[in-house]
Amino acid sequence: MANPKWKTPRSKTRSRRAANWKLNPVTTVECSQCHQAKLPHFVCPACGFYDGRLVVEPKDEHAGHSHG
Ligand SMILES: [Zn+2]
Repeated sequence: MANPKWKTPRSKTRSRRAANWKLNPVTTVECSQCHQAKLPHFVCPACGFYDGRLVVEPKDEHAGHSHG
């Protein structure tokens, strides 16, 4: 028969391939400022806007010299 000889032990049930699939569905919302996907209730990592205002300075691509 095509049945497994033993049932899956409890220690293995949690690590089965399909068991831990999609454990944390990442919810994203569109930033109202730059329309990038961002986490809800988080400052947008792309433009630094939250709730329609600039909260943090967005990361500059040209990171200048640290001293100066
Ligand atoms: Zn944004």
